[in-house]
This record gives sequence, C-alpha cells and structure tokens, in this order.
Amino acid sequence: MAEEKIYVTQPYLPPLEEFMPYLEQIWANKILTNAGPFHQQMEKALCEYLGVPHVALFSNGTLALITALQALRVTGEVITTPYSFVATAHALLWQNCKPVFVDVEPRTLNLDPAKIEAAITPQTTAILPVHCYGNPCDTAAIQAIADNYNLRVIYDAAHAFGVQDAGGSVLRHGDLSVLSFHATKVFNTFEGGAIVCPDAKTKQRIDHLKNFGFVNETTVVAPGINAKMSEINAAFGLLQLQHMPQVLQRRAEIDAHYREQLSGVAGITCLPQGGQTVANHSYFPILVGPDHPLSRDGLYEKLKNHGIYARRYFHPLIADFPMYRGLPSATRANLGQASHASDQVLCLPIYPKLEKNSQQKIIDLIKE
Ligand SMILES: *Cc1c(COP(=O)(O)O)cnc(C)c1O
Repeated sequence: MAEEKIYVTQPYLPPLEEFMPYLEQIWANKILTNAGPFHQQMEKALCEYLGVPHVALFSNGTLALITALQALRVTGEVITTPYSFVATAHALLWQNCKPVFVDVEPRTLNLDPAKIEAAITPQTTAILPVHCYGNPCDTAAIQAIADNYNLRVIYDAAHAFGVQDAGGSVLRHGDLSVLSFHATKVFNTFEGGAIVCPDAKTKQRIDHLKNFGFVNETTVVAPGINAKMSEINAAFGLLQLQHMPQVLQRRAEIDAHYREQLSGVAGITCLPQGGQTVANHSYFPILVGPDHPLSRDGLYEKLKNHGIYARRYFHPLIADFPMYRGLPSATRANLGQASHASDQVLCLPIYPKLEKNSQQKIIDLIKE
C-alpha cells in the first residue's frame, strides 16, 4: 500500500461552499481588484483581528518587504539576519541596499542585539530583523540601538501572524512590520502579504507605492510597483480569518504533543518559545544534536523514506547563497550560532489537519 505523503505544512482551506457567496458577490459587482470592497473589508478586519492601527494589503510578502524599504527611503547598509527565508535579504538587493549579516541568539535564533552595534557603519540606515518561527525578537533592545544611531527598523514578521507579547501585537514594534499570507503560512490568502503601519500618512504612501505611485488619475509621485491584492484573495482572507481560532487551537495541541513526547529523547531539543503571550505555532523546529543516533540529515532522510517531508528551515543560510557569500559579513566565523543552528535544525510537520496517528508515527520514528 502506497503511504500517504506528509509535508511540513498543508495549506488550510475552509469548506468550499463557504467561499461560494464571496465569489458570487465578485461576479455580481464585477470589481476584481484596485482596492475593491473585499480589499477594504479585509484591511479593516485584519486591523481588528491583529490589534493594529493600519494595514496595507499586498499581493505577496516579498513585494511588501521591498515596498516597506522604499516607503521609508532605506538606502546604504541594512543589518539583517542570515537565518531566514531568502526573500528577507533579496528585498534589500531589489532596493539596492547592502545586507550586513549579524549572528543570531542561540535561544530564539533571532538577530542578536548584542552583536548589532559592532556592525553599524556611517552607511547603516536600518535594521531588518525577522521574528523567526513566530518567536518575538528582543524588540526593546533593537529599538534602543535604533534610537541611539537613528536607524529605521522594519520587522519581517512573515512568521508572526497573530503573535502577541505582554504589550499586545508584536506587529506594533519598529517603524513597519511585514506579513506574508503565502499558502504555506499560518494564515493564507493563496498568495498575499501586508504591511502593518503606525499612522495613516505612512499607510497612504504605501498604498500609492503598491499602485505604481499613482495618487490620483493623473499624478504619479514615485516609481511604484504593482503589488495590489486582488478581490479573490481578499475575500478568501476574510473567510479564512473566521477559521483562525480552530486553526490556532489545533496547532497548539500538536505543538504540545510534540514537546511532551520528544522531551528526554537523546540529542533532540525542541526550540523553546520566545516569551510570547500568544503564540501561533507556525513551525515546529527541533535541533538534532550529536547525542542523537542519527545526524540531522540522517533523520531527515529516514523520515523522507517513510513519506514524511520535514524541512531544514533554515539551511543553507542566506549568507551561503551565491549572491551573498562574497559579502564580508557572510563568513561562518561571523555567523557561528546561525551556522550551528542551520546544521542541526529540522522543522517537523505541523498543520491543522495533521492526523493524530500521523503525528505519532513521526514521533515514533524519531524515538526508535
Ligand atoms: C514566506 C516568507 C517571506 C516571503 O513571503 P512571500 O509571501 O512568499 O513573498 C519573507 N520572509 C520570510 C521570513 C518568509 O517566511
């Protein structure tokens, strides 16, 4: 019997019949894009759900990152993490900025604030940290450095949908935060993304930039891009939002079961949560250390041979890709903690429809 393949994630899809009324409305009013009614409703609903003042929807997270940098006129050198999805640094290259990689903290695998200052030069204008796996960065320490050196802070919050710390949404930190609603993320609109911004004026600038720089029918104020979210994606997001409580509940259960079952397994460390008061359980990273009978890649292959497709997020490091590895900050010596994590990390399957017996099979394979 062919085994069913289990991937690291599976996109959440609400029942199809629930989406039909949205489609009928689009077919009736014939507004397909350009800040239509669903786009407007979705921005409002997201502000309420996330507890943030302003949201600008995007066609994907990468264009949102690029536009966030453009909106704040970030130039020169930008301090960022090598331990992320490649889009984080690619956004800098698209804006003609130079990424300067700084190592991560071993506990959270987020940018280590203690190492940022040494990387600041007269060309530095901004910091681009990532809330990796949805674990909040040390936002207070990062902001203190930014204030001291007059730097902008843009958070790549692609993993941090709905995450809260003691003061509320983590998306309130920094000058801007960027979300991704890609199919693989906790909350998806097939493709999609957003910028969370603190004030109406910044949102307006961002809205112009995502629509070619148009401010009205005849005036173009900047070389903007086309990064608008369509009505189909916005409508899907509105429906998806209603399902988030069950989605997060099921993810929390899977997370708790992994932690309970894998505690005490030789050489396996579950990455601790990073002090959030509300987590989204977007990933389930483990570190496979030398005490485990198999290497990380050995365990990865073993799971694969049983139809379980865990993923090595993040291996390789961004700094190892050809367009980055020549940078002075891209060396292994500069990025010891990130390199270490990249050699040991394995993200296990976690998604609402993951069956209990499938999760047990994964756990048993790691334990045996
Ligand atoms: C997914 C992701 C992105 C890119 O988002 P897209 O919507 O796929 O363009 C950027 N940064 C991080 C950390 C991501 O995980």
